[in-house]
Formats: sequence, structure tokens, C-alpha cells
Amino acid sequence: MQITSSDYSRKRHACRHSLVLIGLLWLLIGCGSSAPTPRPTITWRLAQPVAATITIGPTYTPQATEVPPMQSTQTSNKVVYLTFDDGPDPTWTPKILDLLAQHNAQATFFVLGRNAQAYPEIIEQQRLAGHLLANHSWSHPDLTQLDQASVLNELSATQALLGATASNCFRPPYGKHNQQIAANANQLGLRMVLWDVDSADWKQPGTEEIVARIRSQVRDGAVVLLHDGGGSRQQTIEALEILLPELAAQGYRFVAACS
Ligand SMILES: [Zn+2]
Repeated sequence: MQITSSDYSRKRHACRHSLVLIGLLWLLIGCGSSAPTPRPTITWRLAQPVAATITIGPTYTPQATEVPPMQSTQTSNKVVYLTFDDGPDPTWTPKILDLLAQHNAQATFFVLGRNAQAYPEIIEQQRLAGHLLANHSWSHPDLTQLDQASVLNELSATQALLGATASNCFRPPYGKHNQQIAANANQLGLRMVLWDVDSADWKQPGTEEIVARIRSQVRDGAVVLLHDGGGSRQQTIEALEILLPELAAQGYRFVAACS
């Protein structure tokens, strides 16, 4: 059979295509068998501290950063501000309310709107006992990840549900906030409140550790972060059973913040 010049050209093209395919295959196999490319190093940078309006008690120290900051109150009164986040919870909140009543202690409950909606009878119980209700958002998101409209929604829906008897205090979930969130809160007439004693009870580290953390940091005007929702609060209750009489014997009174 005679090979024409066009046949020859077609074969040459086919040959070139085969070589290109082999080359690609070699590259693919080569890439697969070589050491993985090191990932670029990510350096996390904390945002610059931002000014925010944080008020609690008669005087206050404005102090806020994007990570949970220390929150101080300046007072010479022997008072401790107990604060409970993430409730109301049908199992734990009533037990905590009983305990507080036994020790004539008042507290501030930073409630989630969705929980307050689900358990209005507990909210009523808290009100009747003289505790203060405050805003901890509707659904506990990281507010720094939301757009402005969603932040306003989270806060205003909760505030509307709590009604006129709610305090005007607000605590961002995880303590995460920035200048924009502080401004959004102010826009709604809310004051941001953080804490200066983190009991770490949310991670259930053991009753003794919760007691030790509070005992070592408590002072006049301390704002203590505790939880009545978000998981078992058995250790929180056991810690309070130890600490409430102990601190009362030292002369401390337990007062609701944001009053
Ligand atoms: Zn929370």
C-alpha cells in the first residue's frame, strides 16, 4: 500500500499527540509520587484593640479586644456580679435559681432569644426572683462573622422578646466582638458587658477547678462568667454550693449587674 504525504502527515500528528499525552501522564505520575508541596505558613494576627462601650456597675474601665478581654469594675464595695450565659435551660436553670435563692444571691442571666422563646415560664421565674435578664443574641453565633443586618437581627429579636423589663446589657457569644458590633449594640441602646473571672465551667473541667479559678480571681466588683445552659451544669452547681457560702462569709454580696 502506498503511503501518501497526507497519510504521513496524519501519522506524524498522531505521533506528536501520543508524545504529548505520555508527557502529561509522566507529569501527573511524577507529581503524585513527589513529596507534597509544603502548605504556606498562616500567621494569625490579632486585631488591634478597639474602643467599645462597656459599662457595668457605678464606674468602669473601657477595655476591649477581639479576644475575650478582662472586664473590670472599679468599686470598693464587697460585691460580686454573678452572670450566667446560654440559658434558660429546663434542667439546670431552675436548680441554679433555687441555689441563688438559698443564698440570697442575685445574678444576671444573659439569655439566648431562642431559649427564652422556648421556656417563657423560666424567664418569668427569673424575673419574679429579682434577677436581671440580658441579651446574649438569639442563636449564639460568632457575631464577628455576620453582616451588620444579621447582627442587628440577632440582638433586636432577643431584646424584643425579653420586653421592657429586660436590662440593656448585652454579651457577645464567645466574647467575640469588634468595633462594628459594639456600634450595633449601641445603636439598639445596649451596653456590652464581658467578664473578668472566667470560671471555664462551659468545658466542665471538674468542680474543683471551677472553684479554684473563681476563688483565686474574685475581688470587689468582679464579674464572674458562668453558664446555666449549653450542656450539663452539674459542676457549676457543685462549685456554687461551695463558693456562695464561702464568699458570703468573706463579706461579699451577690448583686445583679446592669441594674
Ligand atoms: Zn454563650
